[in-house]
Amino acid sequence: MSVEGKYVNLIIDISHEKLDRTFQYKIPGHLLGKIQIGMVVQVPFGKGGKIRKGYVMEVTNRALVEEERMKWVEGIAPHSPVVEERFIQLAAWMREHYGSTMAAALKVVLPVKKTIKPKEKKEIHLLYCMEEAKEKLFFFMKKKQTARARLLEALIEEKTLSYERAIAQLKVSSKVIQALCEMGGIEVSTEQIYRNPVKGWNYVEKEKTLSFEQEAIVKGFIEDDEKEIRKVYLIHGVTGSGKTEVYMEMIRHIIKTGRQAIVLIPEISLTYQTAMRFYGKFGDRVSIVNSKLSKGEKYDQFERARRGEIDVMIGPRSALFTPFSNLGLIIIDEEHEGTYKSEPLPKYHAREVGVQLSKLWGASLVLGSATPSLEAYYQAQIGNYKLYELKNRAAKGSLPFVHVVDLREELRRGNRSVFSKKLKELVEDRLKNKEQIMLFLNRRGYAGFLSCRSCGYVINCPHCDVSLSAHKNGQLLCHYCGYRMAKLPLCPKCSSKYIGGMRLGTQKVEEMLKNAYPEARILRMDTDTTGEKEGYEKILSLFANKEADILIGTQMIVKGHDFPLVTLVGVLAADMSLGVGDYRASERTFQLLTQAAGRAGRGEKPGEVVIQTYNPEHYSIMAASKQDYKAFYAQEMEYRKLLGYPPAAHLMAVLIESPDKGAGEIWGKELTKYIFHEAKEKRVSVIGPTEASIGKINDIYRQVFYLKSVDEKKLIFLRDRMEQYIEGRGGGKTRVQFDFDPMNPY
Ligand code: ADP
Ligand code: ZN
Ligand code: ZN
Repeated sequence: MSVEGKYVNLIIDISHEKLDRTFQYKIPGHLLGKIQIGMVVQVPFGKGGKIRKGYVMEVTNRALVEEERMKWVEGIAPHSPVVEERFIQLAAWMREHYGSTMAAALKVVLPVKKTIKPKEKKEIHLLYCMEEAKEKLFFFMKKKQTARARLLEALIEEKTLSYERAIAQLKVSSKVIQALCEMGGIEVSTEQIYRNPVKGWNYVEKEKTLSFEQEAIVKGFIEDDEKEIRKVYLIHGVTGSGKTEVYMEMIRHIIKTGRQAIVLIPEISLTYQTAMRFYGKFGDRVSIVNSKLSKGEKYDQFERARRGEIDVMIGPRSALFTPFSNLGLIIIDEEHEGTYKSEPLPKYHAREVGVQLSKLWGASLVLGSATPSLEAYYQAQIGNYKLYELKNRAAKGSLPFVHVVDLREELRRGNRSVFSKKLKELVEDRLKNKEQIMLFLNRRGYAGFLSCRSCGYVINCPHCDVSLSAHKNGQLLCHYCGYRMAKLPLCPKCSSKYIGGMRLGTQKVEEMLKNAYPEARILRMDTDTTGEKEGYEKILSLFANKEADILIGTQMIVKGHDFPLVTLVGVLAADMSLGVGDYRASERTFQLLTQAAGRAGRGEKPGEVVIQTYNPEHYSIMAASKQDYKAFYAQEMEYRKLLGYPPAAHLMAVLIESPDKGAGEIWGKELTKYIFHEAKEKRVSVIGPTEASIGKINDIYRQVFYLKSVDEKKLIFLRDRMEQYIEGRGGGKTRVQFDFDPMNPY
């Protein structure tokens, strides 16, 4: 990191396309040699010379404008972090790849978003020897200097006092403390303290002998590492195959060789239980970041990493930016999870950034999943990633037996309930045998909307293009903007009173079960019951402690939890996630079903799974019922190739948002027209523009179009052209966002 130079090139901390370039400032004499790349400095900016933050990109002797026209750096920002140059390179890559401003990309990779004052521990220590101290105490008492006397008396007793205690309990002022300091009798020490979220945990993980399959992977990894071969590895391991155990052994090797590791886990699976397993192996050299920590606590964890106090950081995608000094390994567990893609700009994917980051560090990257994303598996197929497989469950237990029930057939037989005959039979059997049951309701595309049964009128949110959902407390709620209104007694269109919910929600299933099996203990987990942050873990631990027989839930309950007493998993309507107009719908359905089925039979007793569906012949349901990933991949890849969807090609969504419907539409037409010829020349197809599938959110209208190409460089080139065009034209209130290989359709 060079610190020589008279000038500094920096990015102003304002995310705006027009400011997305570096600005040059002069370094004043007293700061020469002190400003480093990655620091945050304060500079005057704009007409009024308002003081802004700037991220230092370069320190140089090369003036880009005449020196007289340059302004001076005002100072270094308080608590300015020093960012590794590598993180700045990473930000530049993100800016280039995902399209955002450099300032926005820097904000993502900088370990602290807001500069937070670290917590301090202040103590008072006695310097006088005992004899001297007693003499002075006598002297203060005689002089009636009672505050000094109190402080000294306490110090004679305890030698060291906390500063706060002296002030609060002994009622000594800071002036008195200072006076004694000046007399040379005491001294005040300040130490920054970093909160430790795993402090006080007490758990030791039982050492396991790795299975043959597990051992082979760990050995292969270590051999590569010792030869300094750093790769991306994909571990495809069936549910419960012991992937976590493999990760931990890899980490052990990395720590032994003086390096550190980052473990990404989807926020929702990052429970106390998972964190505990790592803690059990590595003790307090492990830390976690998740949304439960305050900003200050997160800052502290990154600070501890920077100071070398920890070796392993566990967290959701933002943990990638942990400032370790010698990163050796990044692990991404459940790499197929949608939450690894960032919603806010820049819309980065943790897997892709992980690849980049591991290259910058010369580190290895390990991806793991029971249902790898098509993207990752494809990379393994074409030889970019090294594929490992775990085909068997690690502990006792085997893969469950799966029944597929055709709901059309049930209907033909006159069964109109949501429980098929088979599922009912098995539920009763498990209740009788005191074994646990999980019932899974895939709610996607099933918002429980309200409509009039006479005229078909649907009650929509006035601010968004979605229907309102009914809640038990009688209110109607918009899940996009939070708009609420009271339930309507009559249809606003035809005044019929037959207005009601078309809804098979988890609540409804719970009610039906309670009626059918009044003695069963039932827990329900969905966004209604997990409102508070602890709600989620509370429900899981109640179920794990066998305080309930049945757990009903949405997607949330299928994510990687280990309940050995569950011997039956029921999927009530497997097709709900199919046919939602999304090229990833089949993949998502396959993943959900496989993961849901994977919850059964993790203990001694074998498990059974009932998948109820209207499409039993659909390939994603057939493959999931056989837990056959390869069959699914082969079919799905054919489809992606045929239609040119990722990973067979790249897709870029261009989303145009405007408070003015007309302006948004004009922008959509103008941009597609502008880019059309160049795109055609490069054989990039342009699809759209059209109104987004949700045409309005929060009173902002949304237009969308897509660019598709096998060559991602072409898409990046065309995006740059569009960005230039937008900058030149000025968007007014219209905003244009780019989303590279989007996870969800717009
Ligand atoms: P995954 O991450 O693949 O779902 P886990 O690592 O959670 O799998 O392992 C599933 C279960 O098997 C856990 O209860 C774990 O303690 C156990 N397990 C893993 N490896 C072994 C092993 N080598 N010997 C015995 N039990 C194991
Ligand atoms: Zn009506
Ligand atoms: Zn709304």
